[in-house]
Amino acid sequence: MFHAFLIKYGEIGIKGKNRYLFEDALVKQIRHALKKVEGEFNVRKEQGRIFVESEGLFDFEEVVEALQRVFGIVGICPVLKVNDEGFDQLSQEVIDYMARVYPDGEHTFKVNARRARKNYPKNSMELNADLGERILEAFPNMSVDVHHPEITLNVEIREKIYIYSKIIPGPGGMPVGTNGKAMLLLSGGIDSPVAGYMIAKRGVKIDAVYFHAPPYTSERAKQKVVDLARLVSKYSGPIVLHVVNFTDIQLYIYDKCPHDELTIIMRRYMMRIAEHIAKETGCLGLITGESIGQVASQTMQSLVATNEVCTLPVFRPVIGFDKQEIVDVSLKIDTYETSIQPYEDCCTIFVAKHPVTKPNIKVIKRSEEKLQEEIDEMVKKAIDTAETLWVE
Ligand code: ATP
Ligand code: MG
Repeated sequence: MFHAFLIKYGEIGIKGKNRYLFEDALVKQIRHALKKVEGEFNVRKEQGRIFVESEGLFDFEEVVEALQRVFGIVGICPVLKVNDEGFDQLSQEVIDYMARVYPDGEHTFKVNARRARKNYPKNSMELNADLGERILEAFPNMSVDVHHPEITLNVEIREKIYIYSKIIPGPGGMPVGTNGKAMLLLSGGIDSPVAGYMIAKRGVKIDAVYFHAPPYTSERAKQKVVDLARLVSKYSGPIVLHVVNFTDIQLYIYDKCPHDELTIIMRRYMMRIAEHIAKETGCLGLITGESIGQVASQTMQSLVATNEVCTLPVFRPVIGFDKQEIVDVSLKIDTYETSIQPYEDCCTIFVAKHPVTKPNIKVIKRSEEKLQEEIDEMVKKAIDTAETLWVE
């Protein structure tokens, strides 16, 4: 029945030049999202609106699901397109539409006609009144309510005539690509994919970095992170995933530093390396899945200690979330099942029984001095040998 969708998007704050950038980014993201859906789709801007149209066959649910992952979309309206074959024919199409979309036939409604093509013989006021009358005749239990109708039946006279009334909610947010790029520290856990999703929702393009420690972490653990990146990319668009071999650095820290400081020092090196790659690739910030107090390495003092090595801003969108709230988002975005697969994470292997929970930066820095001899070379090597994967 439907061959088109009208895409509704939030307009607040997108006046002037920003509006074009916003719309163009949205069109691009919609095209990308539909690439994986079977069918041919034409996505176009027309008079401040965005339409998705297809002449051929497609799976309605699949298209809606894909569009519901495109940030910036506030509503998705399935549109019935009919040829202009006179007013009687149009009335009939409208009545058929109402019968199919509202089979119970018992609602208040108003007609909201719009003449984008001015040579149509009736103006919009006449269309509203005349179509309304035909609907009332056809459905005895429908009534008109122009102020608070349950159904607003839109009829737009264009080359063809567009009929729509339902609005399926979109994800909101801003189109990815309208707010720069940031580097997500993506582990195999529950939190970091959620963090990436949340920042992408604000229009930020995402790259990611994963630290692995073969042979202490397996190929399967890495694959899990690739899988997670792919799930996040359904929302964020393609992700460049940098896989950094962290084994030598981890062993070296293990060898030289007090074991209760291991996690903090390791995390500081992760941040340093992530920031280096971020700066080289044009990212404007880092993203982590940290949440205050969740584990020893996420107390306020620990966060201060890891933050201290960065000059880029570090975005921690789940900082104030309880675990369950993070889990709820991960369930919604479908990363949860993958995140809970039981593969070892490079942090868990070397963790001390009693890690410091209130690291003192001066003390940590003194411990890091013990790494002086080889650490710069190791960091350089880790960066130089990082593997770059394109994930979508
Ligand atoms: P997550 O569920 O995201 O793994 P977590 O609760 O396991 O988080 P930590 O292991 O302390 O928490 O990690 C905190 C954050 O540091 C993660 O959210 C992630 O952003 C980053 N991080 C941790 N381990 C790695 C890793 N191996 N590679 C990349 N980033 C990592
Ligand atoms: Mg983790």
